[in-house]
Amino acid sequence: MNIAGSIEQHDPGRAALVDGDITVTYGELSANAALVRSALAARSIQPDDRVAVLCGNEPLFISAALGALGVGARVIPMKASNPLPELERKLAVIKPSVILVGEDAQWIHEHGETLGVPLLDLGRVASTPASADAPPLVDRDANDVAFMMLTSGVSGDPKVAMLSHGNLDAGQAAISTGVEDGLKPEDVVLGALPVAHIFGLNAVLLTALRVGALIVLERRFDLERSLGLIRQHQITVLAGAPPMWRLWSQIEAPEGTFASVRIALSGAAALPTDVYEAMLDRHGVSVEEGYGMTETAGVLTTSRGAPMKQRSVGRAVPGIDIVLVDDDGTPVETGDSGEIVVRGPGIFCGYYDDQETTDHVLTDDGWFWTGDVGVFDDEGYLFIVDRVKDLIIVSGFNVYPAEVENILREHPGVDGAVVVGGESIETGETVIAHICGTADLDELDAFAKARLTRYKCPTEYRVVDELPVAPTGKIIRRELR
Ligand code: AMP
Repeated sequence: MNIAGSIEQHDPGRAALVDGDITVTYGELSANAALVRSALAARSIQPDDRVAVLCGNEPLFISAALGALGVGARVIPMKASNPLPELERKLAVIKPSVILVGEDAQWIHEHGETLGVPLLDLGRVASTPASADAPPLVDRDANDVAFMMLTSGVSGDPKVAMLSHGNLDAGQAAISTGVEDGLKPEDVVLGALPVAHIFGLNAVLLTALRVGALIVLERRFDLERSLGLIRQHQITVLAGAPPMWRLWSQIEAPEGTFASVRIALSGAAALPTDVYEAMLDRHGVSVEEGYGMTETAGVLTTSRGAPMKQRSVGRAVPGIDIVLVDDDGTPVETGDSGEIVVRGPGIFCGYYDDQETTDHVLTDDGWFWTGDVGVFDDEGYLFIVDRVKDLIIVSGFNVYPAEVENILREHPGVDGAVVVGGESIETGETVIAHICGTADLDELDAFAKARLTRYKCPTEYRVVDELPVAPTGKIIRRELR
């Protein structure tokens, strides 16, 4: 198998992607992916080599990812908007053989010399004449790694979740062929979620390509523009993170704006009840909530197909086993809370080059400890009630406090820093930094912004005399929450 092969079965004349005024057909996408395969083969890229793709939500991302998968390589999607220091931290861990550069990441060429990794410009690759002898798709085993997804961990260092061809395939089936009324070839899907995140990548983009649907790309989410695209292209599948749903729910759009939408999906963080109700009351759209994570390649539970229960993330999708356990690993009684432990075909293969962290969360027989805490009711509905992991979710994106703290501590005026999550109506959670030291806060803010992706930057700084540190040296974050 090779998940890159899924597009080859569609009519080449069919429209696959829309990007502004440009439409790319399945035939053109396949030809562009073949050009990328040729370019990578010319650079002797082998199966299992690591290929980073630095792009925005643009057609070149898709031909690059399919082309790299096609030669059997492992693809690491990277956001074009990453500040250079953050990108360098990530590259130091993944050490790719090459970086494929999209239109939205042209700025990186200025730094080509210092990065120490060869750059390959995708625009140039796409403008080469097609050759008849592009290397064929390399056959892969279901367990071979397809994507390596960047996240970060408790230490703050980049952590890379490896997802196999089989994992991705399972995640795609869960929302297309595996469910009643799943994604179909006639669907028109809004591609506004970032393609470097698992939700935008697998649930939206790759699943739509697999079934032969049309994806209308939005390079950067903007409320007005998204409404224009929904109307113009008669979008039938709308997927968003909760902050996007909040914005859509608040607008007084002309009647019928959302009339074409038949599947509405929210994920990546909890969908607030008031947003769900406003979408239903104001626009007649019933938003389905899914719960999943990078390490599971797709959804574990969904509210689809069963009456909605407030604050619940629904029930387990077919093929997924979920058990809630206490601190000793013993299953809890129904109605009691416990850490969510899951097993299924989408569960990842482990973290790249980090056996210790992998062993901490993944057992030999395939059970993954999610770090989320849940409760089941007696009808099998899951409610997420807490997290054991030190994670802050801003607009659906994961922020690990340690990564932000490490950066803040690099500032000469900071003696200590502890970061916690605060509540935010717009973004769900927000990053709050507690600082010891003499740093000028405006300057510290600029320092953070130059080194961290925007959503990871603190929105508030509090200067304190002392930080809560246990005798073991461990920071007691809950004291600051
Ligand atoms: P990510 O790997 O970025 O997709 O983040 C996964 C984490 O997001 C999960 O472990 C949960 O903590 C959180 N999450 C994802 N979906 C939901 C949801 N529907 N409700 C609440 N939390 C969610």
